[in-house]
Amino acid sequence: MIYKGNLNSKLPNSEQSIFATMSKIAAEHGAVNLSQGFPDFDISSDLIDRVNHYMKSGNNQYAPMPGVLELRQAISDKIKRSHGVFYDPETEINITSGATQALFTAIEAFVREEDEVIIFDPAYDSYAPTVRLNGGHVKHIQLESPGYTINWDHLAKMISNRTKMIIINTPHNPTGSVLTKKDMEQLQRIIQKSDIIVLSDEVYEHMIFDGLTHYSVCRFPELAQRSLVVGSFGKTFHATGWKIGYIAAPENLMREFRKVHQWVVFAVNTPIQYAIADFLKDEKNYKELSGFFQRKRDLFLDLIKGSRFKPITCSGTYFQCLNYSSITDDDDLEFAKRLTIDHKVASIPLSPFYKNGHDDKILRFCFAKKDETLIQAAKILCTI
Ligand code: PMP
Ligand code: GLN
Repeated sequence: MIYKGNLNSKLPNSEQSIFATMSKIAAEHGAVNLSQGFPDFDISSDLIDRVNHYMKSGNNQYAPMPGVLELRQAISDKIKRSHGVFYDPETEINITSGATQALFTAIEAFVREEDEVIIFDPAYDSYAPTVRLNGGHVKHIQLESPGYTINWDHLAKMISNRTKMIIINTPHNPTGSVLTKKDMEQLQRIIQKSDIIVLSDEVYEHMIFDGLTHYSVCRFPELAQRSLVVGSFGKTFHATGWKIGYIAAPENLMREFRKVHQWVVFAVNTPIQYAIADFLKDEKNYKELSGFFQRKRDLFLDLIKGSRFKPITCSGTYFQCLNYSSITDDDDLEFAKRLTIDHKVASIPLSPFYKNGHDDKILRFCFAKKDETLIQAAKILCTI
């Protein structure tokens, strides 16, 4: 069947996401899949038992629109313990259907026609299309090498009286860089006198390495009062298929967020919310993540030491970027496809995360995998 009218697409230039593309090619060719970011190991059986418990004890109807209060309370306690900042569970925290919906709804709630939104390339792929769907203009700033850092003078120059929002992401997907205390202070200084809203994507908040600290926007009072902070339990509890996350923001920003949230999903899966509320109370369930993933990063790096791939510093997330320029000058998408089809290791090229298709000959490999998967992939990478 085909629609015969004038489609007039709202996203005429949007192609299928690179994650869907690479995972599909990986499956078709039986490749070790280090592309899309999801673990290949089991999630906690205790967490599954809790979901089961709440399902069996009759918690299967709509949750309250902002989320189950027990979970909002547990998130508030977690933020207080991690960052020393209080968010009111009644008015300042909302449960969402993954971080993706939190980001979408936040942008939809605040960005109007002709507003400008600044993002940093390489940028997570959902930001720009969401801004455009809401009539906004995306202004791209490229992160600088080495280290994928933000040039704050450049940001200051890009801000105009139409700048509505700045989207930041730390720890950063796809590069694994993190924003420092100094970075946050610069951001705070630059936008202090404006009405700009910050949307802070912190889905990898519990995966930070080498003794570094995760500097959430919420730690900086002038930033916190203009920011929406986004988290993902899919990432934190290895359950990306559950699509559950949260957003925390000052009361008046949250009020606007909820006006939209109620028309997007109204509420999120009830029994999973209760289960995660229990699970979050034990700090161990998220505090051990950094050590767990640092060990996986180090194993992967050790295994590929003899290869021609050159690692880029990864300080957080569960992605390791590798430069392949000593192997070929193929463009990154072409090489990622060849690596998947001919050599059976799937990764993600970085150029789709840049507006201008910038290509530094770098591929991203997800190390949230069983050791045996990493060993299998590394063995192949060492032969190339
Ligand atoms: N932001 C970033 C930076 C991500 O990597 C992802 C993917 N996990 C998301 C948002 C979306 O998270 P979720 O799967 O919870 O929707
Ligand atoms: N966040 C995941 C990644 O970076 C993918 C999420 C998705 O497939 N949209 O790999």
